[in-house]
Amino acid sequence: MDDKLMLMIPGPTPVPEAALLALAKHPIGHRTNEFSNILAEVNENLKWLHQTQNDVLTLNVSGTGAVEAGIINFLSPGDRILVGSNGKFGERWVEVGQAYGLNVEPITAEWGNPLDPALFAEKLAADTSKQIKAVIITHSETSTGVLNDLETINSHVKAHDEALMIVDAVTSLGAFNLPVDTWGLDIVASGSQKGYMIPPGLGFVSVSPKAWEAYKTAKLPKYYLDLGKYRKSAAKNTTPFTPPVNLIVALHTTLRIMKEEGLESIFGRHERHKNATRAAIKGLNLPLFAPDSHASPAITAVAPQEIESDKIRSLMNKRFDIALAGGQDHLKNKIFRIGHLGFVSDRDILSCISSLEVVLSELGYENFTPGAGVAGAAKVFAQ
Ligand SMILES: *Cc1c(COP(=O)(O)O)cnc(C)c1O
Repeated sequence: MDDKLMLMIPGPTPVPEAALLALAKHPIGHRTNEFSNILAEVNENLKWLHQTQNDVLTLNVSGTGAVEAGIINFLSPGDRILVGSNGKFGERWVEVGQAYGLNVEPITAEWGNPLDPALFAEKLAADTSKQIKAVIITHSETSTGVLNDLETINSHVKAHDEALMIVDAVTSLGAFNLPVDTWGLDIVASGSQKGYMIPPGLGFVSVSPKAWEAYKTAKLPKYYLDLGKYRKSAAKNTTPFTPPVNLIVALHTTLRIMKEEGLESIFGRHERHKNATRAAIKGLNLPLFAPDSHASPAITAVAPQEIESDKIRSLMNKRFDIALAGGQDHLKNKIFRIGHLGFVSDRDILSCISSLEVVLSELGYENFTPGAGVAGAAKVFAQ
């Protein structure tokens, strides 16, 4: 059936109809008062969402571009940085640092395990000459469904005092409580197709006063991603280059929707969906890839041993028009990932789990009582 596709991947995520209608409008000029007024409200609401008084800058890039901007604006060639690497995205920030000639020290954990904050504490405490200029952490590691303990790692960075805390919050912002000012996070990057309930195309970077100090002496090359340009323009409710105006108008709409729901309710909804999904997977006797203690609010990775993950995904798509994500790199065909980020309701989770039960049965998996997955999720929703 046409038009029934249900996106249960960690991005692009589903888009509410009000935002789709905003996208369908004629583009307006980006140097008009009408657009400036929209941008002014968007920038205010982005600060609300980030729980910060810092600048929150909007760039016409994907999430990777936002993180890259968050790295190259504040560092110089040869700077020593620590990069948490326990999945595809952590590995990416190691590669970006290396591409720009930074002295990158990866701090690794096995994929599926969280980063160990003690390893960061050790390195930071030993660095008495303050050579470490930044620590980069992927908060919610989308490739594995692990939520890293950013709060603890950040407390060690704060104790070091010199290093900037750079956060890939692409699948945690708008899903998990991330109080940028309370925690003192220097640079926080995210992307529109994840928790913002609009299509791909915008990246966001919040920048602390301490990071702006570092910006003054940072020597890595930059032009399109020079955040100073975006800051100057944002102060005048405009943009340095032509923005995707329709996406900004759609964002204007979804930020209003989010504000109406309220942060606490948004975070509560993601927590509930995480718990319901995990309870369902346990009911189906399938192994979860990330531990309960460090489970992402945005994505749940499942590692079925007996059935190829891609068979499950392809049948979910064919039978029920539900798109699930696969595994990346060595996890290809070993895990599948259920996205529950952004515009997702309790009903979506129940539909996904009951469909999954049918698919598992059709593929010959018999290690569960029919209905046990749905019962697990329903129990969470009934509380
Ligand atoms: C999606 C995502 C990104 C950005 O990916 P893009 O394809 O560049 O938008 C970065 N980090 C994490 C953790 C993500 O989930």
